[in-house]
Amino acid sequence: MSLWREQLFLHPQVAASRPLVASSACLLGEAVRYDGGHKYQANIEQLLAPWLQLQAICPEVDIGLGIPRPTLDGISTPAGVRILVTDNHSVDVTESLVENAQSHVDQCGPFWPLCGYIFKARSPSCGVGSLAIDPHLNLGETAYGAFAGHIHQQLPWLLLYEEDDLQTEQACEDLLLLTFICRDMLWQQSEPDMAALVAHYSKRLGPLAVEGDAMALWMVVAELLRRDNKKRRKLIAQFRAV
Ligand code: SF4
Repeated sequence: MSLWREQLFLHPQVAASRPLVASSACLLGEAVRYDGGHKYQANIEQLLAPWLQLQAICPEVDIGLGIPRPTLDGISTPAGVRILVTDNHSVDVTESLVENAQSHVDQCGPFWPLCGYIFKARSPSCGVGSLAIDPHLNLGETAYGAFAGHIHQQLPWLLLYEEDDLQTEQACEDLLLLTFICRDMLWQQSEPDMAALVAHYSKRLGPLAVEGDAMALWMVVAELLRRDNKKRRKLIAQFRAV
């Protein structure tokens, strides 16, 4: 086991407080897709689940679209990208998905200390910037799914992953490292020795650290790591080297 993992995972509180991460339910093998299928990802179950509290969510089921259900598309309109039923563009489910996302945002806090999401790529609800817009035109433009986009807008420090980001053991280990940092950040929000935590991670994150403010430090980390694999690798190499 890596040294950093030993240090972080053997934290005395870890057994009772594994980082909380939400995941698209279809990636966990739940048959919630429009066609009654799933998109089970073995890496999530085998490499991540033992270390995390994974919470399954399916925005489309949660807003009452049912299983099976019609497919959805991201369509550009004068009002921005809207999520419409493929076979009937007069049915717009964008607001329902956004309201559902807001209910998750409202839950975040001491009783639901969420560190991140693992989302299904290319989904009209869950895609993290990977949803093809106007797919019938094949223009190559992409956007966030309505649910994931609202989460990202409201909680910009949260780690957002898609299953495509987690295809190697190294990538999964990196996610664990970051979620444990996030968990410690969230814990320390209400603890008197927040400065000690910042000093602890500042040492590892070197010049990228922002002294004196744990959340500012976390936002720097999250911003750098969320979608940029090159920067992510560089920062994690820096972390490991200390
Ligand atoms: S991608 Fe999201 S909305 Fe679609 S089935 Fe999976 S969890 Fe549900």
